[in-house]
Amino acid sequence: MTAWKGELIAAPWPLSPKSFVPGDKELSYLITGHLPRTPVVLLDAIEDPYGPATTRELLPDPAEIWDPDEFSRACGDDLDLRALSPRSGSDAPFTQLAIQSLLSTYARPEVIALGDLVPPEWLQAAQTAFPELPTVSETSLPRWSRNLRIRYPHQGDFRPTRVVLASPPNPPKGPTPTHRVRELTAVPDGLFHSPPVWLAIITITPFDEEGRTLGGQLPLDLWRHFISAQTAQELHEGLRIADTFCLRDFRSENDSIEAELRRKFHWQPAGPCPNKPYCEGQCMIEPDAMKAWIEGQDWRKPWGSGIASDYTANIQEVDISDSTAYEVIWARSVRGTSEDDRLRRILTRFDSTYGIPPDELTASDRTGKVSEAFEHQLFVQNVRKRRLIRRYWGYLPLMWDQLRSSIEEEHFPAHCANCGGWMTKTKRKIFHSREEDDECDRDQAKKRKQVSRAG
Ligand SMILES: [Zn+2]
Ligand SMILES: [Zn+2]
Repeated sequence: MTAWKGELIAAPWPLSPKSFVPGDKELSYLITGHLPRTPVVLLDAIEDPYGPATTRELLPDPAEIWDPDEFSRACGDDLDLRALSPRSGSDAPFTQLAIQSLLSTYARPEVIALGDLVPPEWLQAAQTAFPELPTVSETSLPRWSRNLRIRYPHQGDFRPTRVVLASPPNPPKGPTPTHRVRELTAVPDGLFHSPPVWLAIITITPFDEEGRTLGGQLPLDLWRHFISAQTAQELHEGLRIADTFCLRDFRSENDSIEAELRRKFHWQPAGPCPNKPYCEGQCMIEPDAMKAWIEGQDWRKPWGSGIASDYTANIQEVDISDSTAYEVIWARSVRGTSEDDRLRRILTRFDSTYGIPPDELTASDRTGKVSEAFEHQLFVQNVRKRRLIRRYWGYLPLMWDQLRSSIEEEHFPAHCANCGGWMTKTKRKIFHSREEDDECDRDQAKKRKQVSRAG
């Protein structure tokens, strides 16, 4: 990956502070203002008098926050999912629909699962607060419970069970509600229905130099999956990465939100929807551009590295003053011969890095000692030092950065000599490794066996 700790912001449309789409800049600013406190921002663009519907459902008295640059009012509040008593779909239909849309987005975890993006604490708390939600993912449950054994400490700004409820910033005055919502959220007509309704969940994922997150892992070679994809659907719905850089017209979650609004507020049905293409096609242009860049070895040419730099414009280097999340990621990723060995290794690090000897911790068992070390003054002082991280607005800059750094580390992209698929190449390597492609690796083993038998 990169030699950087990072933070991935994934919105269901291309959102970046560099965007020329009106409203997006302000919205990214608003989200940045909530960092690093939250892993999830729920953006509610349902217009008054109905909205913001989710805020009304969840908070009796929403606070108003002010955008200091624009001097206008934006609704936003923190909510800890653990503070909610369990709600049924009829108590909080819009919030449930919004969370459900997030769950269904990552329901097919081929490469990135929801548990890779959102902390396991968040998923667990969402499931408890909304018991009617479909179980997040049967297969990821064992992995979470393992991760949750290292408890997230209470100090620091980031809360893994938090949701920030936000409305689009800077409502302009005057035009009709439909136009207002369109302008506010700066999403082209295609994503909107009439009446205007839009709920979106934006995830914010801290990850370390190896791509590890609080609950899982962002693949180190996402670009490889990206350029191997065959269709727009695969990029949007299989890999789940294209929404951050290509607009998609058809979103089934919007239909259910609209239906709920009609039911609740007795809205008239909208006119027939004109036939629209599946998406804007940007998602198919991008992998082709990347493939051409790789095949032409364009990084060797001055203009070629310029192309890569264009993509990295959506990476910000930012100072953070709370790096607790990264320490928890580290602790959760430690492997050991047993659970006890794993905890022992974690405690050794507290000793060597922060000067917290295990014998000084009073808890009776190692799990307790780890929790205690996380609250220790020496640890707290250290994670409160300023650190530089990279903030990635969407998957495209992340993939280009991964690709660029693998070239710098001389892991050049190449074709596998066995199956012809894309892989990273080092001096001696000509085939896929098992980590890269399990199926190809098994095939190689089979062929080796055949050769040795023949010999
Ligand atoms: Zn697309
Ligand atoms: Zn292969």
